[in-house]
Amino acid sequence: MTAYDIIMKKRRGEELSREEIDWFIKGCTEGDIPDYQTSALLMAICFSGMTADETTALTMAMTRSGDMYKPSEELGKKCVDKHSTGGVGDKITLIAAPICAACGVYVPKMSGRGLGHTGGTIDKLEAIPGFNTEMTREKFISIVKTAGFSVASQTGKLVPADKKLYALRNDTATVDSIPLICSSVMSKKLATGADGIVLDVKTGSGAFMKSVEDAAELARAMLDTARLAKRGCSVLITDMDKPLGREVGNGSEVREACEALKGNCTKDLYDVYMAVAVQMLRLGGAGDRGECERLAKDAVSSGRAFETFEKVTELQGGDPRALTDYSLMGTPRYVKDVLAPADGYISGICCEKAGLIALGLGAGRKTKADRVDPTAGISFEVTAGDRVKKGDVLGRLMSSSVSDMTEAERDFKDIFTFSEEPQPHRPAVLKVMED
Ligand code: URA
Repeated sequence: MTAYDIIMKKRRGEELSREEIDWFIKGCTEGDIPDYQTSALLMAICFSGMTADETTALTMAMTRSGDMYKPSEELGKKCVDKHSTGGVGDKITLIAAPICAACGVYVPKMSGRGLGHTGGTIDKLEAIPGFNTEMTREKFISIVKTAGFSVASQTGKLVPADKKLYALRNDTATVDSIPLICSSVMSKKLATGADGIVLDVKTGSGAFMKSVEDAAELARAMLDTARLAKRGCSVLITDMDKPLGREVGNGSEVREACEALKGNCTKDLYDVYMAVAVQMLRLGGAGDRGECERLAKDAVSSGRAFETFEKVTELQGGDPRALTDYSLMGTPRYVKDVLAPADGYISGICCEKAGLIALGLGAGRKTKADRVDPTAGISFEVTAGDRVKKGDVLGRLMSSSVSDMTEAERDFKDIFTFSEEPQPHRPAVLKVMED
């Protein structure tokens, strides 16, 4: 077997065997296959696609490339996990995990940092002073046993094949391929070992899947893989044609998540967190859809979900007072309100550009070594469908590192499109696919 022959076979559009995929993944993870050949195979997969059997074989080969966990054996109870394919303003884990934990369903969550224009749960949690996501497996499991959930950052030993492939995909314009996204997401979910997995597939201008049809195809591929791996799985296809909620950043998203746990949030954020929480509870065995919705609502209205978030914050070394006195997460040194240039209805918000502006203000990393500014981001005053008058505030740009916001202000104005007539409303949850 040679890397050359495998690349050529895929380039011709032929189906790779399980043995060929296993051999290639082992070789590239262990450094025996050079990056230029791995990149060539990634590009060939992008152009030629993969059959369902090939996607499953790729997912399983990647899953086996590193540590594999069985949290239900460690915890003595069924547990659930969730994963989003990456969004702008996506703070759902910070809301859905405490809700499930407050309802008695365990969520041992391993998360990543921001990728490109999309934010990461670990960066958001680290905006809370002292919050530590790097800990031993024993400590992680003991926090889940005590409080119901914990969030740990993914170590290099979790699916090292994905670490390698993702970095190459990022540099070779091969991120938005359905078999590559499916294997990347599902290998991490299978290796972390939860019994039930809820996948939030984003679609729209801020997502890797721009159309609902592509998102549904990705969803089907992930459901098929979960079924073969004997895991419960639900997929939600949710809107990323506008940022989720009003905040894009780190500290500001923690604040918005805390407000949601206290019962105050926008309808789009409510719809998505409730849909995700209900599916997680259902897969965790808490009851049927109706019962799970009742449980989730009660966890919020009783304050138990928020108290769970406070408890986990404390157990992970964070200052729980910051979840109420938000100034403890820091305040941005520079702020700039951006005003509407004309009267009209907001017909669209380019979500990817919004993510890139937030990144430029310091909310994300341009290179791996960059430090994230927890105070940086965008606070939206308006959303798609709103009517605005010239001079109304569209949003606030925030940063502690970028003092001259002229460029960010110009780019921010450009993310909005306006119309004279109201536009049809697109729901936040577009489709629910249960296994
Ligand atoms: N999230 C992932 O973990 N992997 C992808 O390929 C895309 C989104």
